[in-house]
Amino acid sequence: MNTVESKHPRAVAVMGAGIVGAATALALAAEGHAVTVIDRGDVGAGTSFGNAGGIVTGAVTPTATPGVIRSLPSYFLDSNGAAVLRPAYAFQVLPWLFRFIAASRPARVATIAAALHPLVSNAMRAHQDLARLSNALDRIQPVGWLKVYGSDAAFSKTALERELMTRHGVNFSALRAGEIADLEPNLSKEAYTRGLFQPESGFVNYPMGLVQAYFKGALERRAQFAQEDVQDIRPIGDGGVSVRTQQTVRRFDSVVIAAGAWSKQFASQLGDRVSLDTERGYHISWGSTDGPLLSRPVSFPEKDCVLSPMHDGISLASGDELAGLTAAPDFRRIRALVPFVHSVLPGTRLQTVQREWMGHRPSTPDSLPVIARSPRCSNVFYAFGHGHLGLTLSAITAQLIAGMVGGHAAPFDLAPYRIDRF
Ligand SMILES: Cc1cc2nc3c(=O)[nH]c(=O)nc-3n(C[C@H](O)[C@H](O)[C@H](O)COP(=O)(O)OP(=O)(O)OC[C@H]3O[C@@H](n4cnc5c(N)ncnc54)[C@H](O)[C@@H]3O)c2cc1C
Repeated sequence: MNTVESKHPRAVAVMGAGIVGAATALALAAEGHAVTVIDRGDVGAGTSFGNAGGIVTGAVTPTATPGVIRSLPSYFLDSNGAAVLRPAYAFQVLPWLFRFIAASRPARVATIAAALHPLVSNAMRAHQDLARLSNALDRIQPVGWLKVYGSDAAFSKTALERELMTRHGVNFSALRAGEIADLEPNLSKEAYTRGLFQPESGFVNYPMGLVQAYFKGALERRAQFAQEDVQDIRPIGDGGVSVRTQQTVRRFDSVVIAAGAWSKQFASQLGDRVSLDTERGYHISWGSTDGPLLSRPVSFPEKDCVLSPMHDGISLASGDELAGLTAAPDFRRIRALVPFVHSVLPGTRLQTVQREWMGHRPSTPDSLPVIARSPRCSNVFYAFGHGHLGLTLSAITAQLIAGMVGGHAAPFDLAPYRIDRF
């Protein structure tokens, strides 16, 4: 990124200090804007704290694909299935679910993949730009993204994913068992027969550390932090935008809403309707291991889980739970995967569970984020809805938002990410 100091520096509030907000604050501060980050919690302590660490540059396949409708009954009935819907939340999530099903039609999947492609293919470059600005290059490891499959039948179900990656020029290879063993010798050979490997993907073994590094990079460029709970955001007569928190009201030239799964209410206050819900996800992490067990995150799609070698031990990430923002976590499904983890990393010491955690993925039904200017309030910008790809897409989102605030031409068509598509 050429960080050109803006000719028209603005006072910009960034609401949310997750990976999307912190990256956006850095990209804006680097262009000379006077940035205030507002978050009610600690920097990076939301959903961005506990993800699997993948910067997945080949993730052009949306979550909803043809056939998803057939798996819907299992959302209700199979408490150990890939996704689960809590009955008490069913009525509330229904409109989102209808859109999710509509997004799974073949023609829509093709359109969504084409819209994901410019984002994911620029994801690593954008992270490297921001990491360079914040002395965080060593936090991003270029180790690729590995998926393994327990049978040829399971691998054959990846035909659509392979076809979409091929169509969009993603560099990937289909691996045989011996090639997987070369990449990850500690993984039980019983765990796989085939694999998919994207060598250009990256890995962050301390996701909260990356948020903090981007945030620090913004502070070094005169950004400010207010730890306050935002109540409402409104346009004001002079073209500015007011942000009211529990403590105070401030005026800004522009506001970026990057509050992850909590963003919808602020868009609604401004009259912008959006289909945003949360796919809750979990992790369990083990503190003690016998040295480095894995060199990169390994995804097991049949079990809907990822094992990642984090800075503080091995982490198991899993779960797609539709239960809203306020229901208590239910760790039963992820705990049920623990014997599987012992079986794929045999002979290792994973006895000490150091943390069980739940986060709220901010998910749109079409798997595309909202990266847009508000049609109703031209000085409000939206940067949320990154679902399963928030770490991956945070830096490119930040650069696109900084471009919009600074009035630069977009590097590619941003229409697929507008808020009024719902
Ligand atoms: C188990 C799991 C594994 C994942 N693995 C990956 C992966 O490997 N790769 C990948 O790319 N993505 C992954 N993700 C997705 C990714 O973690 C999320 O998409 C991303 O963290 C969302 O970032 P965010 O900044 O939008 O939201 P958040 O990190 O949730 O930040 C939003 C912030 O807004 C603040 N906020 C909300 N309301 C208010 C208010 N009223 N006032 C003030 N502040 C407010 C919150 O306190 C929070 O800090 C995973 C997610 C999960 C759950």
